[in-house]
Amino acid sequence: MSSTTSNPASSTILPGGIEEIVSLFTVTPTDTPTPPAERAEKIARPRFGTVFSDHMARISWRREEGWIHRRVEKYGPLQLDPATAVLHYAQEIFEGMKAYAHADGSVWTFRPEENAARLARSAHRMALPALPVDDFVAACAALVRVDSEWVPTAEDSSLYLRPFMFASEAFLGVRPADEVEFLVIASPSGAYFAGGVKPVSIWVDSEYHRAGPGGTGSAKFGGNYAASLLPQSQAAAKGFDQVCFLDGATNTYLEELGGMNVFLVMDDGSVHTPELTGSILEGVTRSSILRLAADRGREVVERRIPLTEVVEGLASGRVTEAFACGTAAVVTPVGRLAGDTFDSTVGDGQPGELTMAIRAELTDIQYGRAADRHGWMRRLA
Ligand SMILES: *Cc1c(COP(=O)(O)O)cnc(C)c1O
Repeated sequence: MSSTTSNPASSTILPGGIEEIVSLFTVTPTDTPTPPAERAEKIARPRFGTVFSDHMARISWRREEGWIHRRVEKYGPLQLDPATAVLHYAQEIFEGMKAYAHADGSVWTFRPEENAARLARSAHRMALPALPVDDFVAACAALVRVDSEWVPTAEDSSLYLRPFMFASEAFLGVRPADEVEFLVIASPSGAYFAGGVKPVSIWVDSEYHRAGPGGTGSAKFGGNYAASLLPQSQAAAKGFDQVCFLDGATNTYLEELGGMNVFLVMDDGSVHTPELTGSILEGVTRSSILRLAADRGREVVERRIPLTEVVEGLASGRVTEAFACGTAAVVTPVGRLAGDTFDSTVGDGQPGELTMAIRAELTDIQYGRAADRHGWMRRLA
């Protein structure tokens, strides 16, 4: 008997068109599954990004054939020719999502179509092929169904999903690759803030930028992260948790952290975040928070925010809360903001009230503890 089967876990949980694509995934189960006791141990003590589930979802692309070979296979090393284009010219993009276990045992994810659409936008900027939204969601579902036992159930834990796409063609010429791979891997992850939410300190960098006008800042592109590593380690050496970058054109306006968007709460209750000018990554968490804040009757303002205004606002009390947001940490309170010429405490240095309320509201929706009134959740398994 062949070990290759069609996906045994196909069902009718997702819209029909996506279920049809899930059923196109060929599942080749690993011949060395992690023993249940070892898996339980790994899930109970996850170290983010170091432990992966037994399988990975994969789709290949060839310029002449399009997207082919939808499959779920054993998680493991990729064999790459030393001339593989991504190793030289960094044609690579990624996404980050979570699969959440709900109390009834079902597994859900949050607004995956937004991640799929963003991957397609990133692909456009990096001259990679667009993967259709339904293929993206189906790949996540196909993997989560095969590895459903890897979804942690402890509070605030999840199965982190990392979809990514790279130029796999072995060719040193500088042009868009004719061969591309798309994969989804999954890493069980525990609560981001073990032992309770703690405010972070942020260094506002006026020497380096992560993005510039017309650059790659709005793409979820690995190179943006590479560019943020030096400023991040210099800030860490000064004792700060994270770096906030200013706009590359004028070094004046707040943009975002290396991997999180930023928000301010004002003394009149309004909620402000830097507007998307093309060099800021459009976070799914950011857009969800704008919605939740507006639902609460808060005025929400997307605009260019000068750093000088923030420093003055922190001193005068006009700025009462600051937080960063992204899929991994959800909402992270900012307790201290400093740069070359200032060092400010945000509020009393403790997590802000609206910051924590929005964090609770969003995680309640994601974990199925609150009604999904915006239709954001998609059941995967
Ligand atoms: C991924 C990312 C974010 C957060 O996006 P989410 O969709 O909310 O996870 C913010 N900034 C950058 C630079 C990112 O790469």
